[in-house]
Amino acid sequence: MTETEAILAIQCLTRAFRLGAPPTLRWSARDRRGHARLGDRITVGPRCWRGVEDTLLHEVAHIMTFRRGGNAREHSERFYLHLVAIVQEHYGDSRRYGWATEYKRLKARARRDGLLRNDVAADAAGWSASPRRRLRPTASVDVT
Ligand SMILES: [Zn+2]
Repeated sequence: MTETEAILAIQCLTRAFRLGAPPTLRWSARDRRGHARLGDRITVGPRCWRGVEDTLLHEVAHIMTFRRGGNAREHSERFYLHLVAIVQEHYGDSRRYGWATEYKRLKARARRDGLLRNDVAADAAGWSASPRRRLRPTASVDVT
């Protein structure tokens, strides 16, 4: 995904979900993780370890959650449902997202909902530390 494609995706998604003015994009050549700042700016770039596209979708979900009254940093059930809707809108199939690379709590929800397509590969890569533990929706202090 190029910078121009990222800008277009932000515009399409904010329009589709009636989120108001599209957040601005900061295209970073250095950042390895994305960021969403107080609902008005998203930072992604070609070095994001999960890939630009999935990183961007995750950050748009933060914008959506914040603009609908949530905490800008939460990875709650509400955030997850926003992310699923955004992924479905963007890819046309919510299973196409890299759920295996998500935070454990989000990944557990994706597994619960049958969206995780490559569990075995993810486990082999060490991305799922405790697959048997039941994770409950809680507020989160993660910052990306
Ligand atoms: Zn996040």
